[in-house]
Amino acid sequence: MAILNQQIPLVKHCIWCKQIEEETQFQKLAHTIPQSIGGQHICENVCDKCNHFFGQHFNGAPSVESIIKETFNVSRIRLIDKNKIGKNKPITKFSSQYFNVDLSKNKFSLKPSFRLQKGFQEKIGRQIKKGLYKMFLEEIERQKGDGHNSKYDFIREFCRYDIGDYPVFYFERTHGIIMMVTSWITTPELFLDPDQQFKYLIREPYFFEFEFLGHVFGIATSRHWDLAVENYIKKTSEAKSGLFRKWRMVKYFNDIDLSLSILDDYHRP
Ligand SMILES: [Zn+2]
Repeated sequence: MAILNQQIPLVKHCIWCKQIEEETQFQKLAHTIPQSIGGQHICENVCDKCNHFFGQHFNGAPSVESIIKETFNVSRIRLIDKNKIGKNKPITKFSSQYFNVDLSKNKFSLKPSFRLQKGFQEKIGRQIKKGLYKMFLEEIERQKGDGHNSKYDFIREFCRYDIGDYPVFYFERTHGIIMMVTSWITTPELFLDPDQQFKYLIREPYFFEFEFLGHVFGIATSRHWDLAVENYIKKTSEAKSGLFRKWRMVKYFNDIDLSLSILDDYHRP
């Protein structure tokens, strides 16, 4: 008897709203890391509605997509050789809607009209946090096919439906030496598996740490992260001792050294 190797057609199934192809459309390409900062990978299981949602203003704050672009492009530009920035070069110059960016002086601040809006800095901070969690879940789906796992429901609630609040730990380096290959700057990646190169990143059941455009972040992988946080802080502090001077939980956008001012220290005599 011949065994027929029949392929079962894969039905697309949105990791955000859980709708399938019959219920919603999957026509647009959903970049896991925004294309505007060089992201190249696509998550197949993001429907057009959810894709569109992440590009929309939300609750008086910039979209997740645009805030990730506007903030992390500043870090990208800081990391790359200035000759590689410009028209038809690896990184194009960008203008910012929300920030004043002076690359020659390495100054980066919120435009005054936004600075005066009550609660705006916190709103931006929350959108950045959502953006980092969003990249994680879409990459988990792309790389491991595990984005629908119910343990990540809290990420769906937070990023897509604005429910709850989850931590983003930010680790501040001691020295302005950041080892990176140019391709990770022009086309950033999220590495889900432990990498020998980053020995200071630890693996803990309730947390995930990653290096992204010169920054080191930790996020929760469980809604019950608070049960394990004490132990996590202890272990991560040990692994980072000497290389990182402190950590904080991100609340405002400027809790992250987006312009990588630490690089200035390195150039000082
Ligand atoms: Zn969806």
